[in-house]
Amino acid sequence: MSNRITVLGAGIAGLVAAWELEQLGYSVEVLEGSSRCGGRIYTHRFADAQPAPLVELGAMRIPTNHLHTRAYIDKLGLNDRVRDFRTLFSEDGAYHTTSAGFVRVGEAAQVLVEEFRTGMVAERYGEPTILFGAWLMAMADAIAPPDFRITLQKELGRDLLDELEGLDLAPFRYGRGRDRIDLHAFFAAHPQVRTTWNGRLNHFIDDVLNETSPELIRLEGGMDQLVTGLVERIRGPITYGQEVVGIHVRDNDVLLEIRDGAGVTVRRCDQVLCTVPFSILRRMSLSGFDGDKLDVVHAVKYWSATKVAFHCREAFWEHAGISGGASYSGGRIRQTYYPAAEGVPGGGAVLLASYTMGDDADRLGRMPPAACRSVVLDELSKMHPELRRPGMVMDSASLAWGQHRWSEGAGVTRWGMSVAASEEQRSQAARPQGRLFFAGEHCSSTPAWIDGAIESALEAVGQVRLGTREGAVAVGAR
Ligand SMILES: Cc1cc2nc3c(=O)[nH]c(=O)nc-3n(C[C@H](O)[C@H](O)[C@H](O)COP(=O)(O)OP(=O)(O)OC[C@H]3O[C@@H](n4cnc5c(N)ncnc54)[C@H](O)[C@@H]3O)c2cc1C
Repeated sequence: MSNRITVLGAGIAGLVAAWELEQLGYSVEVLEGSSRCGGRIYTHRFADAQPAPLVELGAMRIPTNHLHTRAYIDKLGLNDRVRDFRTLFSEDGAYHTTSAGFVRVGEAAQVLVEEFRTGMVAERYGEPTILFGAWLMAMADAIAPPDFRITLQKELGRDLLDELEGLDLAPFRYGRGRDRIDLHAFFAAHPQVRTTWNGRLNHFIDDVLNETSPELIRLEGGMDQLVTGLVERIRGPITYGQEVVGIHVRDNDVLLEIRDGAGVTVRRCDQVLCTVPFSILRRMSLSGFDGDKLDVVHAVKYWSATKVAFHCREAFWEHAGISGGASYSGGRIRQTYYPAAEGVPGGGAVLLASYTMGDDADRLGRMPPAACRSVVLDELSKMHPELRRPGMVMDSASLAWGQHRWSEGAGVTRWGMSVAASEEQRSQAARPQGRLFFAGEHCSSTPAWIDGAIESALEAVGQVRLGTREGAVAVGAR
């Protein structure tokens, strides 16, 4: 088989695959629909200054156990850019919204316990168990989408609290008043607690542990250095403005219908690696796909995310006792992050004013951008009245991924699926169709993370190599 391959999509999966295939001797071209590379890695800079104040409108942090991502940070020479990423619940001075209003995280335990007691039939549980439940629910409030938050309390309640009563929670208490619980240490020490839980709860706990982990990192200077590092190393052409609108798999080749400035043209390709999200693929004209493959293309579920950022005159939150991390701001804005300052001194500071997911994200994302930013400013000003000072907000940026033309979603969710069903979906999503191969976070065991996108790219490279070898054997046998 020919060693020419066309990669669709210049996100991290497409770029990793392109680079790896070139190193194996393939002749690679990349076709990208939009006018930029990076896909859901999207670093927005508020000025032309070098370095400029920036915000990550897409991926912003990397769990240290995401080894594929760490490997590419290393390969691209970015280790000296790695910094700690401080997240929700990491900063005592940050706020947590409760039914009694917002309180500092360091002082939240009492009100969280009171809230938890009223929500549960809690009399029969000891104080450590209640404290554990209260912090777990606080994290659920801060992280889970609304429909999930409503049922979680019931699902978690019964079995978990009973089980906790039999365990010694003292080693996991910390803080000045020993009124915090280290959930990461607890779940690491007691993995058996999760074995009886369904997939839905386990996926959720994974997300909670990842998003509140003390072991998160970021790239100083922007996550898009991963993207530019790859683009600089890829020798073949990366062509922008090439929107694929049809894919037709035939016995010995793949036909692509491509819309560019000049209209729709048809291209014949020896082999194709598609990293376009299935949310987009399912709207294309497709033929030559088998039934199971089409089923998975349509079945994969995406969650939305919306981010709204303000470029502020100064890091006013530092004067209010917040040195980083994030607040759970509740309402329509949900989470507020205080990123580490980047950019030239005096260039201002960036506040990730709102990060929403699921239905919360769609509610904001369906508004016109100006209205969405104004809602966020109104709501967040109650927590941070400094935002109302004249000249404090110098600029803003937002991105609603659920409504974004090139992804129609922030990432694939398999919440609610059993481990077996998740793996079945993953392997179907990654399964080639003739000379059409697939990669992207949706084809991985770690969806909605960069790590999953890279994992899938490496698997697809393996499949392409195998296909080339088998093709060569078949030709030789003729
Ligand atoms: C708000 C948000 C926060 C996130 N936070 C994190 C985080 O903190 N850490 C982390 O590890 N991950 C995070 N992620 C997930 C991570 O960004 C993604 O999993 C990963 O970047 C996906 O890469 P990909 O290559 O699979 O897809 P994409 O990046 O979506 O790449 C697909 C490419 O295909 C292109 N394309 C689409 N349609 C067409 C078409 N018709 N024709 C041609 N090209 C097309 C797109 O423009 C895009 O460039 C986050 C994602 C979002 C949205």
